[in-house]
Amino acid sequence: MRKRARGRRPGLIPVGVDFNLRAISIAVQIKRRSHVKEALAAFAPIASRYEAEIVTINGECYLTALLNLNPPPFPEYVQPKIKALAEKYAEELDVLKRLGIKPRLTRPKIPGIPDRKLVAKTLRQALEEAGITAVPHLFNTELAVRIRKAERKWKLAYRHSITGRCYAIGRLVKALTKLDKVTVKVENLKTINKKTVANPKTARWCYATMLRILKAATPPAAKIACINPAHTSQLTPCCHTKAKHKTYRTLTCPKCGKQWHRDILAAINISQAKITTTLQ
Ligand SMILES: [Zn+2]
Repeated sequence: MRKRARGRRPGLIPVGVDFNLRAISIAVQIKRRSHVKEALAAFAPIASRYEAEIVTINGECYLTALLNLNPPPFPEYVQPKIKALAEKYAEELDVLKRLGIKPRLTRPKIPGIPDRKLVAKTLRQALEEAGITAVPHLFNTELAVRIRKAERKWKLAYRHSITGRCYAIGRLVKALTKLDKVTVKVENLKTINKKTVANPKTARWCYATMLRILKAATPPAAKIACINPAHTSQLTPCCHTKAKHKTYRTLTCPKCGKQWHRDILAAINISQAKITTTLQ
């Protein structure tokens, strides 16, 4: 009994989860040495399927993984479909030209979708490559149909991908709750809204979907909390200095020279960050 009264250390396993349109990254902070072996066993299913790495910082162990989402973001997903359509029409126009027929042409137009600007860029490139600037009216009709169809398919596949990864995290969390109290830490939606991304509407939809599925996948024995997101994507966990960009995805610590994957760095920082609100 005495042992319990004295020993209420903040024995806790924080799991930082970072999310962007391409991947979900996680960092499990193992504070007690006695947890390492069993935590590793719980981590094995994720480590065998996704890019995983064990990171030690100042004697503390972090199990990290990058769970890439598949399909890629919508503008990339739809690109080959738009390209094929542009090529098909370029060929048809070429045939008409050789026959001496001048079809009525119009400007290419993208239907109203969340990622419109990015898809419009894809369309411009595709038409340029196909060597056409103006298109027949039918092109725009067909383009709208194809984009809407692709959007429905993409949403389903994308949600499915998020679900698979969130439930893999949920199973890991469930196994960890057998060792200690577990808190799953995430950024809150407000900060996602503030971030400047090329497609804020899609980013919001993706984040909201991710959070909803993650909540459903997290066992009731674990807590889910939002954190103070200041500097989570900038400070290096090793020396707490501002990381320097080597490439878009790789960051370098200016003090010790350690290289970090952007998403893993964020997940570790999130696992260490202060909790602002509890969600579950
Ligand atoms: Zn460092």
